[in-house]
Formats: sequence, C-alpha cells, structure tokens
Amino acid sequence: MRLLRDERGRLHIDTPLMAESLMDKELLDSTEAETSFRALPNLNVIKLGGQSIMDRGREAVLPLVEEIVAARSEHDLLVTTGGGTRSRHVYTIALDLDMPAGVLAKLGASISEQNALMLSILLAPHGGIKIGHDDLTKLPAYMALGSIPVMHAMPPYGLWEEPPHRGRIPPHRTDSGVFLTAEVVGARRCILVKDEKGLFTADPKKEPNADFIPEIEVTELVALDLDDLPIERAMLRALVSARSVREVFLVNGLEPGHLTRALAGENPGTRVYRAG
Ligand code: ADP
Ligand code: MG
Repeated sequence: MRLLRDERGRLHIDTPLMAESLMDKELLDSTEAETSFRALPNLNVIKLGGQSIMDRGREAVLPLVEEIVAARSEHDLLVTTGGGTRSRHVYTIALDLDMPAGVLAKLGASISEQNALMLSILLAPHGGIKIGHDDLTKLPAYMALGSIPVMHAMPPYGLWEEPPHRGRIPPHRTDSGVFLTAEVVGARRCILVKDEKGLFTADPKKEPNADFIPEIEVTELVALDLDDLPIERAMLRALVSARSVREVFLVNGLEPGHLTRALAGENPGTRVYRAG
C-alpha cells in the first residue's frame, strides 16, 4: 500500500477499499477469488450428532470413540459435538417464554458444550482435550502433540444469531458450525456422523420407503426443497458459497467402520458436493 501526502501535508494510505461503502456490487466482485488460503489441508473435521449419537449414550458413543482413537494414528482430526434432545427441550422452554433466537442460540451452545466435555473426557486417555473456539488457531500445536481436540460445534453467533426467516429456531446450529469450522481452516474433509445411512428423499424414520440419495450437488438439493432434511439448510447455503470445502459427508455412526471409511476417502453414506 502506498502512502500519499495530501495538500495539507497529511499522510494517507492508498488502499483500494478507501472511501467505498463495501456494498457496491462491482467492488464486491473485484474481491472475488475462487479459493482461499487453506491453513490445515490435512485436517478432518468430524461432528458427532447430538440427538442421533450422543443422546444414545455408551452403545453409540463408545464404538465411535474406538474408531476415532484408531483413526488418529493415520489422520489429523478435530472432533465436534452437536446438542440434541436437551437443546430441543431448552428451545421449547425458551419459545414458551417468548425468547428471541439469539437467546435460543446461546442456550443451544451450552448443551453442545456439555457433550464436548463428556466426549473429551472419554478421549482423554488417548490425547483427548476439550478446546474452545479461540483455540482453533492452536490446532497445529495440538496436531503435533498427537492430541484429539474436541470442540462444541455450535457457531459463536450466540446472542447475535440472525433472526430466522421461518419460525424461531436459530438457523445456524451445529451442522453450520462444523461446516464453517472446516471452511475457515481449509480442512480436508467435513464429516457429519448421524444415525441414518445418509440423505433420503424423506425422513426414513417416518417414511421407510423413502429413496436413498448417495450423492447430490448442493444446488440441486436446495432446489428439491425437501420437507425435512438431516442437515441444516443454513449449512447447505454456506456450502454453495464456500471457497475451500467442496463436499460434506453424511455417515451412519451406528454402522461400525463407516466413519473410518469416510476418513479413508470413501463415501459410505451421502456426499453433498458443490459443482465446479
Ligand atoms: P443431529 O443429531 O446431528 O443433530 P438431527 O437429528 O438434527 O441430527 O438430524 C438427523 C435426523 O434427520 C436423522 O436421524 C433422520 O431421522 C432425520 N431426517 C429428516 N429428514 C431426513 C432425510 N430427508 N433424509 C435422512 N434423514 C432425515
Ligand atoms: Mg441437528
């Protein structure tokens, strides 16, 4: 950046965004870039679902702990956790009390953090450490130590959560949080571990005849406008605009080995990808 001296002798920095509103469409286009810098291209970011995995207790969680520990010898991992049924319960109470979305988001974050605490304790004998959002920039050190960092997946919008377009549930929950985490560090893979094979044309718990979708382009999935989804709509919108992460994997954590296969580069469930 050049320094310019004005007629009064004062120095100014000649910066291209100077005196712009940052809303001008042409100016915004001029900042476009296909990709952004990837700080941790070997990192795999995993989320264990709250309702779908953590709430099922030891039967679902302990086999996944084993898979995670075994995978850590081959892969760099960041494990994150959803909130689940306790989030839903606290959302119900907060809605009954007419709380705004920002309060619900803050409540949801603390439940997701409770799950991160329990998972980090289970992983502690194998290098599990609970980390907070501010510790993300320390991941290279944690990886060098062979640790297994565990973080809550709720994004830190908190009280500043955007009011939702529809209803009053915070739109950015733990699927969005894990995706945005993977995006900002330029991770290798983003894997959502839940309790179904992947994406179906309808919730397989309610419609057992729903068709399985092994792979789908994200804008096609948005256009399908399914009544129910196993992944947050806000996460799909983020994938459409992402600069680093081009695909997200949905895997069944109740099937032994599926997470391991997803880490090995396979698609044992559903791959939602962005074309181009
Ligand atoms: P998490 O535990 O990660 O928060 P959710 O419970 O929010 O996961 O979402 C996963 C659930 O979404 C699945 O257990 C499944 O029953 C349900 N679901 C709803 N619609 C679909 C669909 N179209 N395809 C697959 N699963 C669906
Ligand atoms: Mg969910």
